[in-house]
Order: sequence, then C-alpha cells, then structure tokens
Amino acid sequence: MLQYFGMEILEVNENGIAAELGIAAGDELLAFDGFSVTDVLDYDYYNSCENFTMRVRSGDEVVDYEIEKYDYEDLGLELSRDIPVRSCRNNCVFCFVDQLPREELRNTLRVKDDDYRHSFIFGNYVTLTNVTDRELERIIRIGLSPLYVSVHTSNGELRSKLLGTCGQKTPIPDIKAQLKKLHGGGIKIHAQIVYCPTFNDDLDETITDIYPYTQSLAVVPVGLTRNCNPLIKKVDKASAQKVIAVVEKWQKKLLAERGTRYVFAADELYLKAEKEIPPYEAYEDFSQIENGIGLIAAFKHDFEFALDKCDGESAGEISIATGESAYPLICECAKKTQEKLGGKIRVYKIRNDFFGESVTVAGLIVGRDIAAQLKGKPLGHALILPRVMLRETCDVFLDGMTLSELERELGVKIKVNQPDGESFVKEIIGVKQNG
Ligand code: SF4
Repeated sequence: MLQYFGMEILEVNENGIAAELGIAAGDELLAFDGFSVTDVLDYDYYNSCENFTMRVRSGDEVVDYEIEKYDYEDLGLELSRDIPVRSCRNNCVFCFVDQLPREELRNTLRVKDDDYRHSFIFGNYVTLTNVTDRELERIIRIGLSPLYVSVHTSNGELRSKLLGTCGQKTPIPDIKAQLKKLHGGGIKIHAQIVYCPTFNDDLDETITDIYPYTQSLAVVPVGLTRNCNPLIKKVDKASAQKVIAVVEKWQKKLLAERGTRYVFAADELYLKAEKEIPPYEAYEDFSQIENGIGLIAAFKHDFEFALDKCDGESAGEISIATGESAYPLICECAKKTQEKLGGKIRVYKIRNDFFGESVTVAGLIVGRDIAAQLKGKPLGHALILPRVMLRETCDVFLDGMTLSELERELGVKIKVNQPDGESFVKEIIGVKQNG
C-alpha cells in the first residue's frame, strides 16, 4: 500500500467545507487525488479546484472525501506555510556566495538555495539541476507558474562545467528537455544567462535552443568580488558590446515574429558597453526588472513624470550617496531637480572597498565604506541613501553597521528612500505633489 506522509492540520476554519465534513485540528492531510501532500502548495492548488478527492487521517482512521465545490469556495484548512529551502547541488565557477568576504554579512546572502518552490513563491532563479522528473510532473500538475530558471548555456557539457557538476555521480538533467517539458505542461518560464566571458560566449546557440520554450530571457554580467575565482574574466566594454549586439539582433527578429523582444540585456551591460540605455517602451512589461533589466529606464520615466507634476519647495542643501552604476543617473536626476526646485544637491559615488571595486551596485555597499569615504565631506542637512543598502527588516548595513552609528560617525541626519524615480522626487527631495 502507498505510504503517505502528509501534513498536520493546524486549524480548521469553522465556516469552511472541512469543518462541515468533521475534519479537526490535529488531523493529518495525506493526499489529493492520490498524490501525497508535500507542502502547502498542494493545498493551495486543490483549494482552488472544483472536483477532487482528499485523504485525511484522523487518529487511526483514514478517510477519502469526494470534494465537489466551486473554485472560490474555501476548504478552510490552516497548514504550515514554511517550506524549508532546498540547497543547490552545484558548485558554480562564478558563485557569488563563494566569493563573499568572511566578515559578518547578511545571512540571506550566504544561503546557497536552489528550490523550485521558492522560485514560484519569491521569483528566485533556480538551475533545476536538483529537480527529478517526478517533481517536474508535480510542477505541471499543480501549475507552479511562472518559474525563473538559470540556464547560462544550453550546451550540456559546458553547463556542467559552469555549474561545477562535472564528476558528480549523477549527471545534471538536460536543461533543454526540462524546459520543453515544462513549457508543454503550460508552465511559463523566465530564463537568465549569467554571462562569463570566454565561458559561455555561445549566446546565439542558447537563444536558438531555448526561445521556443521560455517567456523571456535576461542576460546579466557575472558579478565578481575581490575573492573571485581567478579563472573568471570581468565583462569589459568589448565583451559587453558583443553581448548587446547579439541581444539586439534577436530582439529585432523576435519582435517581428512573436511580437515581443523576448531577450533583454542588463542595464549594467549597457553601462559597461558605454551604450545608451534603451527607451522605457523597449522593456515591454518589465518582467525581468528584479534582475536589473530596465531599472534605469523605469527610474527615469517615473522621475520625469513625478518632477513634472511636482510643485515643491527647495530641499535646501542635501546629499545623496549611491554606487558607481547608478551614479550618472542620480547625478542627472539631481541636476534636473535642483534646476526646478532650487537648493543644492550633492551626489557622492561610493567605491566598494568591502567587496571589491568591481562590485558597483548600490545594494552591496556597506556602512563602513560610506563612513570612510564621506567623513569630512559637505553633506548639507541630510544624507539620502537607497533602502537596498540595508538589511530587509532593519536599519543595518550588510557589514553590521547600524544607520544610527553611521549618522553619529558622519554627524548628519540620514534619510532612506525606495530606489525608484517617484520616491526620488516625493520622498527624497520632500516636495509637495499636485493632486
Ligand atoms: S546555483 Fe550556483 S551560483 Fe547559485 S548558489 Fe548554487 S553554486 Fe552558487
């Protein structure tokens, strides 16, 4: 007989279907339609279905219920929503976690996760190398869509080399076959390629292989800290230009054929290539914005709109600190704001000494670098920092320095804002909005 493991029912809503059936807290939810309940995602899926069987253990008794309901009707069960993260089986040559300094750092940065369920819930990128065929079927059955998949290359041998899995007892699954199966099962996939010059220059071949099965593709440059693998080369101007040329060639072709550009290069690649950032419309639905694709275009667009509408007062003399990547954009926006509202806005570019100079994003700047580089500089009555510099839930930088320690160190009031164009005008500069 098939062994079900199931999940404990924590609570039963008295107005739900389960309560009517006599199911109680402490019972065990074992299966839906004969499939074991692995985590709360099974429950969420079946709770939105109309006809299915549900197996529940109550004491020594196991009961199969035939459920017929409207899709919006609630079964009314409370289960644990924790899904313990599954670690990756890879040892990628460019792994950012392996490159982190030993000093105290945000714990979430050290997690080597590769869990398809977290991809569905949080939009994390996963390699699918630790996913079995049975799990692919589960993804399709309960519709875990969209998923975010790190492809890097469609060449199996090269992928194994990049992911550091050569020599493992079980070879990694064929990514093309996995994508094809998921696509055939109705799962939407947003893919990414972390571009490592001289490793995965086969961009053309990979796009040819995967575009029929994926929704969008992001190409992002490899991130290197001062502890990086010496085998990995930095993305320079020439290699960034080469990547953008391939991306733009495919955008033209696919826009004509599919009505979408499909593949997008990271903002950082345009900055490295010293090429103008594409217009706002070229990012379509901004499906890869969390991956640094279209952030600059969106920021500029929202900034222009908010500045145009504003009827504010001068913010007086203030300063803004940011990373090297965002520096030109913030300078441009600060200048326009100053021209319209008056006052004096100084923008400071913070060099990343903690992770290494080649790390240029604002989100990885630590308190001690800001303190060292701004000490004694004119900062006005407030210093503005983007929220991405701080840990998710508190006012602490990645190196453990608190916001108030930095305020004391610099002798200035610090304001933190969301890193988008509208906040830049509304919150940072403190202007009043019209309507
Ligand atoms: S999948 Fe690769 S890059 Fe991601 S955590 Fe694992 S080893 Fe690091």
